[in-house]
Amino acid sequence: QAKAAGRNALRFFNPGMQAAVNARVSLESDIRRGLVEQQFTLHYQPQIDGSGRTVGAEALLRWQHPERGAISPAEFIPVAEETGLILPLGEWVLKTACAQLKAWSAYAATRALTLSVNVSARQFRQQDFAEHVLALVRSMEADTGACRLKIELTESLLLNDVEDTIAKMNLLKAHGVGFSLDDFGTGYSSLSYLKRLPLDQLKIDQSFVRDLLTDANDAAIARTVIALGHSLGLAVIAEGVETEAQRAFLSTQGCDGYQGYLFSRPLPAAAFDAWQRGRTGPDHAQPAVFFEI
Ligand code: C2E
Ligand code: MG
Ligand code: MG
Ligand code: MG
Repeated sequence: QAKAAGRNALRFFNPGMQAAVNARVSLESDIRRGLVEQQFTLHYQPQIDGSGRTVGAEALLRWQHPERGAISPAEFIPVAEETGLILPLGEWVLKTACAQLKAWSAYAATRALTLSVNVSARQFRQQDFAEHVLALVRSMEADTGACRLKIELTESLLLNDVEDTIAKMNLLKAHGVGFSLDDFGTGYSSLSYLKRLPLDQLKIDQSFVRDLLTDANDAAIARTVIALGHSLGLAVIAEGVETEAQRAFLSTQGCDGYQGYLFSRPLPAAAFDAWQRGRTGPDHAQPAVFFEI
């Protein structure tokens, strides 16, 4: 049908576009209802250091829609951003993440883990964002003794109001909140802005990791991001690491951390805790004892 319309046909609002608008409007009201009815959860994906230890996790939002089943954040986050619903949704994510850090602080296997939360530009731009996060951090710290919260920002934040961004980051950093630049390499970072931001970490986007071993350009980008990060004094973590060969290549380039299906998919809280206990238990609980039969 599209072919029949031809390359020069003028296209007006058609039934397909109406369907897309309807889907978007119903998604909006469904997100609103989902928040009230607690249909959202966080899953946790481990972040592994060069020696194979779990150093933290990333919190990833999941939505179990009552009729449609699981809906990907790639589908609903953009709608939440456009409609402003990212503000209550993002607040719920931050609160839940802080509660999780508090829960982790009770167990040896999870006590030292950091937790990274994705924050969208619209959420970060709220006037009282930093103060709001600080209030959460303070009440969490009263229980856990330290701030293990990290925030993942994307390059789109660098497009405007860099002074405001730096001021907010500095305020939060002074209270122990860490910052990662997510999906690095896919946006429009100006290197002169990048060096001014008080970041702790760059995340190599998974689109460069996927074909690392077969695409010389991706390998060159990964190598360059690692060198750039290190020369700015930042740690570099790769996302979307699925194979040992990818991990090994990144390791030879000096990459500091890894996240991906090679280690674990994002897991519900209880499954994450069990996974992490399974890795640390024998090492840290007590020396192994062997019985002779
Ligand atoms: P992101 O922050 O870059 O998160 C990484 C995405 O890669 C996640 O997708 C994760 O499940 C996926 N992933 C992890 N390891 C692998 C791997 O080895 N292979 C492949 N192919 N994928 C892997 P997810 O959970 O679907 O989230 C997509 C995006 O949605 C996130 O990208 C983030 O931008 C956004 N997002 C998720 N949760 C939140 C949230 O709480 N707030 C905001 N503002 N955005 C969120
Ligand atoms: Mg992220
Ligand atoms: Mg990312
Ligand atoms: Mg990504």
